[in-house]
Amino acid sequence: MVSCPHISDCPLFAVFTMNSALAVWKTNYCGGDHSRCVRYQLTAEGKPVPQHLLPNGKVLHLTPLPTR
Ligand code: SF4
Repeated sequence: MVSCPHISDCPLFAVFTMNSALAVWKTNYCGGDHSRCVRYQLTAEGKPVPQHLLPNGKVLHLTPLPTR
């Protein structure tokens, strides 16, 4: 399967790469069937892509790590 052509410029791909808990997204969409990704679809339609929009159309909520 061909990887998503937006891997080099998609901010969420970088997040998926840095956070192992989110790697499933990378496997299932970025390196898998990227045509199902809502971010990919919006980009293909020339529409703006919300920063924290997940491939399934939901919004990623990252909670900050507690400080000591
Ligand atoms: S999140 Fe979507 S648009 Fe971004 S790299 Fe992965 S498949 Fe491509």
